[in-house]
Amino acid sequence: MIGSVFGSEHDFFHSQTWDWTWRGGVLLLLVFWLAMAYWVWKDARRRIRSHVVVGLVTILGFVPIAGPLVYMLFRPPEYLSDVAERELEMRAIERRLIDRQCPVCHTDVEPDFLVCPVCATKLRHSCASCHKPLEPTWQVCPYCETPVAPTEHPVSLRAQRAPRTSRKAR
Ligand SMILES: [Zn+2]
Ligand SMILES: [Zn+2]
Repeated sequence: MIGSVFGSEHDFFHSQTWDWTWRGGVLLLLVFWLAMAYWVWKDARRRIRSHVVVGLVTILGFVPIAGPLVYMLFRPPEYLSDVAERELEMRAIERRLIDRQCPVCHTDVEPDFLVCPVCATKLRHSCASCHKPLEPTWQVCPYCETPVAPTEHPVSLRAQRAPRTSRKAR
């Protein structure tokens, strides 16, 4: 009786079913191990700028279970794309703040001011036709379609009041 039980177990472990189960298990572990390392590499590329560090982290990812776990504990918290996006936003906010200041005396000015109210620096030109404030880069007035005459950079009103001599004699 006992002998026959051991005998059947012996048969089972040497049967083809056991062989396939064992091979399947090993294959599954192998796939899982490679997938973990691949995930570490993929995730590290999105978070770490340095290729060398990504390579080292990927090697760490090949350490079964512990490698990916250690990586997850110490990986940078943000994606590189998120960092870049935030930096871009910060720069845009900075630029907007600079745009809202007089370049000479740094007084806060409204976006439609033509002249700094404190130091009289010319900030913008107005449209010759509709008198709306124009941005320095605009070639045509967006309000009335009047072409903008090529103008000099914002200069002090005092300088503008001085009689201008024609620089280009035709
Ligand atoms: Zn000013
Ligand atoms: Zn206009």
